[in-house]
Amino acid sequence: MIVVMKQGATAAEIGAVIARVEELGLTPHPIYGENHTVIAVVGEAVTLEPDVFLSMGGVDTVTRIGHQFKLASRQAKAEDTVIALNGTAIGGRKLVVMAGPCSVESRTQMLETAQAVKEAGARLLRGGAYKPRTSPYAFQGMGLKGLELLAEAREITGLKIVTEVMTPEAVPLVSQYADILQIGARNMQNYGLLNAVGRTQRPVLLKRGMMSTIQELLMSAEYIMSNGNYKVMLCERGIRTFEPMTRNTFDLNAVPLLKQLSHLPVIADPSHGTGRWDLVSPMAKASIACGADGLIIEVHPHPEVAVSDGAQSLKPEKFAQMMRELKPLAEALGREL
Ligand code: PEP
Ligand code: MN
Repeated sequence: MIVVMKQGATAAEIGAVIARVEELGLTPHPIYGENHTVIAVVGEAVTLEPDVFLSMGGVDTVTRIGHQFKLASRQAKAEDTVIALNGTAIGGRKLVVMAGPCSVESRTQMLETAQAVKEAGARLLRGGAYKPRTSPYAFQGMGLKGLELLAEAREITGLKIVTEVMTPEAVPLVSQYADILQIGARNMQNYGLLNAVGRTQRPVLLKRGMMSTIQELLMSAEYIMSNGNYKVMLCERGIRTFEPMTRNTFDLNAVPLLKQLSHLPVIADPSHGTGRWDLVSPMAKASIACGADGLIIEVHPHPEVAVSDGAQSLKPEKFAQMMRELKPLAEALGREL
């Protein structure tokens, strides 16, 4: 249920609604919008009637949220969420591009890539220090050393860092290094992990599971938000279908649909979405055209020797070319790169 307060409702009136929600054994999530304060009422509110709040001072309207996801829904918050990341805003008019290798492999690899993607216009550096691999015998990531290399690259270039956290126990350590915590596709429904990142105030890039529906992605965002962390980005990274010529089927339907259903920023990952470097640039353009707020792109100085995802990694010069080509497209769409 959503309680929309009147414009100019007083702090006491808002406080009274919050207190009433708590009395009813439900959880209030106040959302302070530009014009109205909205109080999302979450919990098992099946029998709750709107009249409970309608008669209270300062209350404008009360509506039921039709979706199972509440805090993530457009009904809870009409305007787009913009996540501030000191100096960088995600979800506004300006598109955000995160780029870097799949895995952190070495100091030279990270510094070379960081410089190159920064020059091309990326605002965040990606790179996995902890890698969720299908095989336990495959490279599992550099761990703490990898986090340190990411921090050094940030120090030198000023790029912010996005990197994956795989377990609840690792959240405090990875949070010391990461500006954005990535939840990988394989962990989208790891509820213990979602609760753990939800208890931080670190922005989260939540990747859609390769076998998950759009509804399930939004319910996973709801786990994070219901713990108090509203800084969630939804990431479409391709789903598994019967098509073997691409690694995944990049479900671009999800982008405009997520924008319709939710106020959260949507990031597209054409690297994992296609699995092929030669499809990354065209699908990056398609992502922007259908309304994505940003991109996450794998870039490696020597994809042929990458320890993971070389086949879908762009060389720095191809990445720079893609960025040049995206610029006029973004402008035509009323966005900025
Ligand atoms: C990655 O970003 O390198 C990654 C492992 O992605 P996903 O979780 O989408 O497979
Ligand atoms: Mn990868």
